[in-house]
Amino acid sequence: MRLTSFRYPAVISEDQCKILYMCKGKPYATLVRTVCVFMADSETYDVIVAGAGMAGSLAAGIAAKNGLSVLLLDRNGPETAGKKNNWGWTCGDAVAGSHIDYITAKTGITFSKPGLDLKVDGVYAFSPDLGAKYLFDGVGYILDRPEFEKVLLDFAIKNGAHYMSHFEVEGPIMEGSAVAGIFGKDERKEHKTFKAKLVIDALGVATVLRRRLPDNPYIEKNVDIEDIESTGRYIYEFDLDHEDLRYYDPKNALIHLNQEMAPGGYGWVFPKSDGKINIGLGVQKRSLDIRNQKLGRADSVQSLIDAYVKWNVTVKNPRLFDKDHNSKGIWSVAVRRQMGSLVADGYMGAGDSMAMPNPISAGGIGPALIAGVLAGENAVRAIGNHDTSVKGLWQYNIDYNEAYGQKTAGMEVFRTFMQSLNNASLDYGIRMFLTAKEASDITLGTIPELSMMSKFKLVLKGASNLTAFSNLVYVLKKMKELNQVYKEYPQSPDQFAPWKKRVETEIHEAKERFKPNPL
Ligand SMILES: Cc1cc2nc3c(=O)[nH]c(=O)nc-3n(C[C@H](O)[C@H](O)[C@H](O)COP(=O)(O)OP(=O)(O)OC[C@H]3O[C@@H](n4cnc5c(N)ncnc54)[C@H](O)[C@@H]3O)c2cc1C
Repeated sequence: MRLTSFRYPAVISEDQCKILYMCKGKPYATLVRTVCVFMADSETYDVIVAGAGMAGSLAAGIAAKNGLSVLLLDRNGPETAGKKNNWGWTCGDAVAGSHIDYITAKTGITFSKPGLDLKVDGVYAFSPDLGAKYLFDGVGYILDRPEFEKVLLDFAIKNGAHYMSHFEVEGPIMEGSAVAGIFGKDERKEHKTFKAKLVIDALGVATVLRRRLPDNPYIEKNVDIEDIESTGRYIYEFDLDHEDLRYYDPKNALIHLNQEMAPGGYGWVFPKSDGKINIGLGVQKRSLDIRNQKLGRADSVQSLIDAYVKWNVTVKNPRLFDKDHNSKGIWSVAVRRQMGSLVADGYMGAGDSMAMPNPISAGGIGPALIAGVLAGENAVRAIGNHDTSVKGLWQYNIDYNEAYGQKTAGMEVFRTFMQSLNNASLDYGIRMFLTAKEASDITLGTIPELSMMSKFKLVLKGASNLTAFSNLVYVLKKMKELNQVYKEYPQSPDQFAPWKKRVETEIHEAKERFKPNPL
């Protein structure tokens, strides 16, 4: 028998256990703010994967396929795999075709309908006055998310991961500085601990594992509220009032930049099969507060979503499409660079738990899929080498950085810059300063050399816009510098601290220069 502290997780000795037991004379002992419960020795695995969303199911499947003993835990049953919250799967469900191809190449999983609900030719972003548009991303899919997630969970289970559903993870078990397992409650609400050589945190944005790690030099426990978008959507059937491809396009996903409608974020209309839509928006809380104050309004994310649906002149008689009870919901997305390190002793993170979504688009499906694969592969490598220390897991940082992560810090700076521009500046800037190709390159994290055409247009417009133009030049330079810093990502943990400092200094400088200014 051993005693486990749930609030401040630490496995303590049997003697300490007896003292507590005798104090209270019953099998539950409450000491100050620590809840202690007796329990049988924990089951032990090679890997525990907490969270059976996209990142978790892929990591678990790959680890199990390569012979590791894997416990995959989630609060959902298999029929609701990957459901984020009581509302449902709450997502725009748009993913680039290249990310789906990546998963197929790495795992052999082939996707089709119903998981891939609709193929789109591209994603277009519109300026607030709808007068300019640019390609935000290429060919992609709008997913039927519940169906897509079932395919991934199936992959994990078929490859031998032990899936425990209806399990609420409550925190990490620490042994010294290393994560040694997790504690939580099973479907009968009984306390349980499980131990493993490695814990993979795939619990999504609200993760109780990362947030309850002890202070450590590698992984931040908290995300700044200014780096979070509060975002929600409906899935609707509707009647098409009339055709206007600026509002609804059955072949393309549309994004509407508009600081009054979606302060600090954007609205979207993504087409689904059989004339349905996924329609919603995201906001930054601080931008929303400033906007409400300036307009004397008290709008919430929900009221803004409803106003956005009304604003859309093509959408008549919207009716909730409630397959899987997934037609409506609000949730959060982090829009910053991913955590500087994705590993600590005995611990790895993948997907939203590590703030992986693209800081400009908030697209987190692609990064979660990529990270899930790489986390699984690196778990296999580290356990094969008998080393799940931060050093033994470090290669995962390097792999993720190369596969996706190295452009996100620059994108975070660009997002901050965008949030400092009002509608008039966005209209002007998108039309005058950038060619469509340059704007699209930026959203993909590639830094364009501003074309002669852009510079020529600026000269024609005279000096009054020089500040705005020089801000854009500053941002592009800063993005380039940050991309370079990430190219020099530390090859081992001992070089991490000074590198992290460099990143923080660069980001801080940019955030001091650009403050939210929606109106
Ligand atoms: C409104 C909205 C729109 C979005 N639109 C897009 C989009 O169009 N395209 C895109 O690419 N991205 C989009 N995103 C982001 C995308 O949805 C996420 O990046 C993605 O779901 C991350 O996957 P994940 O596997 O990391 O985590 P999640 O999908 O959050 O999965 C986490 C899993 O862990 C489980 N879990 C959590 N806590 C516990 C616990 N304590 N105990 C047990 N189980 C637990 C959950 O139930 C869930 O099954 C959007 C997000 C929102 C909120």
